[in-house]
Amino acid sequence: MTNGQSVYSSSREPVVQLESVERVYHLAGEDIRAINGVTLDIWPGRMTAIVGRSGSGKTTLLNLIAGLDAPTQGTVRVLGRDMGQMSEQERLSLRLHHIGFIFQSFGLMPLLSASENVGVPLRMRKLDVHEREQRVAEALAWVGLTERAHHRPYELSGGEQQRVAIARALAADPALVLADEPTGQLDTRTGRRILDLLRRMVAERGVTLVIATHDPQVMAEADVIHELRDGRLVETRVKQGVAFPAR
Ligand code: ADP
Ligand code: MG
Repeated sequence: MTNGQSVYSSSREPVVQLESVERVYHLAGEDIRAINGVTLDIWPGRMTAIVGRSGSGKTTLLNLIAGLDAPTQGTVRVLGRDMGQMSEQERLSLRLHHIGFIFQSFGLMPLLSASENVGVPLRMRKLDVHEREQRVAEALAWVGLTERAHHRPYELSGGEQQRVAIARALAADPALVLADEPTGQLDTRTGRRILDLLRRMVAERGVTLVIATHDPQVMAEADVIHELRDGRLVETRVKQGVAFPAR
């Protein structure tokens, strides 16, 4: 259903399109259907949650969207491009330029300062030092950590480490950010703050955010919820007032 008041036009293309996607793992002679026939679209500028209990396939689905893993069957289109038709180099480039990642355990390099951590993906893109420093400073300021730029992860709280990870994901100005249980290691209050920052990332920076989670706070905040059970999409719930074009 489309909603006339929405700022998002239903004519815009989905950022992610999954078509009959399967991912089967072969383990000790057994087939594990981690993703079992999932078809869904992820629309721009929204917070989408992928929910389901542990083992339901959330991380596998994010890895497929990121092109870090390939489906056994079906197609994954990201930003209009069929990942299965791209070379490894093209997928890497797509990730570096357009996709940010946020993890449950933050994924920071322990020996690097906050600003150096934020700069890692920009170094991989070989941006010149001035542009890199500018983007790093801007991203750290945006998450409110300018004062912590020279601290290493062990000198930061869990919430601060996750803010560094958010700054790192944002520094490249990505269209799509994938977050795997980003509040999973945080207490409820800190998780709330991180969630507010993620919400602002969607609202202020126009990012399309996909969060794998089973945190009720995150589910309450999400615009769209896709629920997985044993690798199958069992339900899609859309928050009232959010435009979600039918397929
Ligand atoms: P979630 O993130 O929802 O906890 P996962 O995507 O990690 O779920 O896992 C989905 C299913 O796939 C689980 O049964 C898990 O054991 C299995 N699985 C995940 N990764 C692998 C792998 N590399 N090899 C074999 N089985 C895997
Ligand atoms: Mg997982």
